[in-house]
Amino acid sequence: MALFRKKDKYIRINPNRSAHQTPQTKPEVPDELFSKCPSCKRMVYQKDLGLEKTCHFCSYNFRITAQERLALTVDEGSFKEMFTGIETKNPLDFPNYMEKLAEMRAKTGLDEAVMTGTALIEGQEVALGIMDSHFIMASMGTVVGEKITRLFEYAKQHGLPVVLFTASGGARMQEGIMSLMQMAKVSAAVKQHSNAGLFYLTILTDPTTGGVTASFAMEGDIILAEPQTLVGFAGRRVIETTVRETLPDDFQKAEFLQEHGFVDAIVKRQDLRQTISKLVRLHGGVR
Ligand SMILES: [Zn+2]
Repeated sequence: MALFRKKDKYIRINPNRSAHQTPQTKPEVPDELFSKCPSCKRMVYQKDLGLEKTCHFCSYNFRITAQERLALTVDEGSFKEMFTGIETKNPLDFPNYMEKLAEMRAKTGLDEAVMTGTALIEGQEVALGIMDSHFIMASMGTVVGEKITRLFEYAKQHGLPVVLFTASGGARMQEGIMSLMQMAKVSAAVKQHSNAGLFYLTILTDPTTGGVTASFAMEGDIILAEPQTLVGFAGRRVIETTVRETLPDDFQKAEFLQEHGFVDAIVKRQDLRQTISKLVRLHGGVR
């Protein structure tokens, strides 16, 4: 039975080395040192990602938190957070929903899936919203809708442009129809802001899907996107099953949307701040 068993002497590199010197375990690498890039699947040294968190092999933008986005975008110390402390009443009495929200608040340091307020970008004041996919996939519930609506209303009152970073997995299923109603509510506020002649800039970040895409993400006067961002309404599988066709690989990528006229420009993460600043300077003061 031992016919194919390798004899010890064939695999030992140094015949003088005794068996107990052979390392029994793999060297340990702490998880936080390396990240696997979801796009090119290579291991990236965390320190090489930099503040922008961009893969240096394939330029993939890792998903970042609202706080990280804030640090990349606004003048240091200029952000004034607004509209915090609004809480959902759990309209469907969805089991464990309130516990889930408390857990998310503790984990992300945010009070909901969008951070809202005013800030300066290269000295220009804007009303700013940043959605964060780490908070229940930035799904849009009543509080997210309310905070964004109030942001537009505040911007209208004070004659400010709105800069909104979108990210979302869609409607928040825990809030059912109340969640879907936010699409109409926010859209009405966007329209009033627009009627006042004010500028609205959207930046689509990975992933922007569902009800957010079907409403305010696509209502910007100018729509920018980060490279490779997933943008869509229904998921790929749902569409393929419905139309019974295989969709192209780049379907629902920002580049595909730009070719078809839904996105104005794709801007690298490291160039975003400057591009936003330039666009706000060109359009922000117009009333
Ligand atoms: Zn990569």
